[in-house]
Amino acid sequence: MNIPIRKMPLHRKILLALVLGAIFGALFNISKYKLDITYRQATEQKSATIETWERIDFFRSDQAAPVASFGKEDQLKLLQWYRGLENKEKQSLIARVTWGDGRTEIRFTEVQSIEKVKTIAVVIRPIGTLFIRLLMFIAIPLVLASLIVGAASLGDIRKVGRIGGKTLALYMVTTAVAITIGLVMANIIKPGFRLSAESSEKLMTEFQPDIRAKIQQKTAISMIDTIINIVPQNPINALASGDMLPIVFFAVMVGLTLTLVRKEKSDPVVSFFDGFSDTMIQMVHLVMKIAPFGVFALISATVGEFGFDILQTLLWYAVTLIIGFVLHLLIVYSSIVKFLGRMNPLKFFRGLREAMLIAFSSSSSAATLPVNMECCEKNLGIPKQITSFVLPLGATINMDGTAMYQGVATAFIAQVYGHDLTIAEQLTVVLTATLASIGTAPVPGVGLIMLIIVLRSVNVPEEGIALILGIDRILDMCRTVLNITGDAACATAIARTEGVLGEPSAEAISS
Ligand code: ASP
Repeated sequence: MNIPIRKMPLHRKILLALVLGAIFGALFNISKYKLDITYRQATEQKSATIETWERIDFFRSDQAAPVASFGKEDQLKLLQWYRGLENKEKQSLIARVTWGDGRTEIRFTEVQSIEKVKTIAVVIRPIGTLFIRLLMFIAIPLVLASLIVGAASLGDIRKVGRIGGKTLALYMVTTAVAITIGLVMANIIKPGFRLSAESSEKLMTEFQPDIRAKIQQKTAISMIDTIINIVPQNPINALASGDMLPIVFFAVMVGLTLTLVRKEKSDPVVSFFDGFSDTMIQMVHLVMKIAPFGVFALISATVGEFGFDILQTLLWYAVTLIIGFVLHLLIVYSSIVKFLGRMNPLKFFRGLREAMLIAFSSSSSAATLPVNMECCEKNLGIPKQITSFVLPLGATINMDGTAMYQGVATAFIAQVYGHDLTIAEQLTVVLTATLASIGTAPVPGVGLIMLIIVLRSVNVPEEGIALILGIDRILDMCRTVLNITGDAACATAIARTEGVLGEPSAEAISS
């Protein structure tokens, strides 16, 4: 136990950072009562922090009756109401704050802003954001370069087609299984029927305004358009905007075409991209040196902002999902790794530790992609030609955690609205959640927006998303772990069936 921190393996450092970050975040949790008010008095800008208030009434300067009133439990409602006001309306507000005994009052004139009071746990978030951005900027060049080299070394369109076919089949099957497990759990536990009418009403009023904006973002995805869009009109555009599937398509085409070009012309191109991809991998090593700091900041900010009350309210929903996640992770992935990949599942999970921890802290499959590629190549012995194809594809289209979450959330919301999904509806959910998870971008929170498509397919009111919004971030962290682990499990199986699963290299990422 006496290992000096500097000598500790990386995954331990990250784990330690995660635990410490959670403790720090819980200690400096944002108060549900404290508010920062900036206001103007006699043309001077002032600010005040209020904490033990009993109620706040807002007045327009020219009216005697309050335009809105909030009790001390209504911090979120108050902030949402305030955010929804027009700028002009905000400026003329007067806030009358009443304290405990009902007598002491203070008036704040010309209110300029009202915000939650940020704590140190949340203030350090930019360190985490910086870490994620460093990983994100590696992802696109890494995928491009390693996939060009990978496809050029496969050299055979039939082989690419075969690997592609197997990959897609495995991805689709595991996703459908994930949703089925989720729905079975939802049918057994029935989390929606365990939510009291009072809690559901409270959640609906608190989160409704946030949801309306999200619903407007997403209307429908067309299958045909999605397929057509895989072929980029302009690959540079695709690279610039980080559209993973068109990038994968372009890189595979370049790699395959290189095998048709005269050797003296193609060799320098391949070795350029080979060197470039090694440089990107080296960059992952450098960035991972700050991983513990990044993870600490990300977890601390998330926990610091998280209202633990909501965990209590939505406990059954969270428990249903987490049991589903664990079953999928332990049974489905272990079986794929053991029977198709002929690898000891323990070795698999151990090799993937860093990637799983980064996925959990970042909630982003895209940010985790470089680390996942590195873990798969160095710790699991999956060759670059497989990882560079299977993993970026998986980060974009294979999201078992997201799909299961969309299935369970649909069943949960339907139950809250009073009905269990019929078998036919559940089959529709399996189909639409598979498609919706394919369309989900590998960044935080998008699974929630794509959920709208699944809800619409079985006529469950989409406003119901308000019920689960408050707990989404924490569940996003868990589902992202599943998303990237599924990609790695399939990559292991594909490498084995192609007969190229090798031994781990000496310079494993954790060493
Ligand atoms: N955060 C998830 C991912 O990046 C996507 C989601 O479910 O929101 O894999």
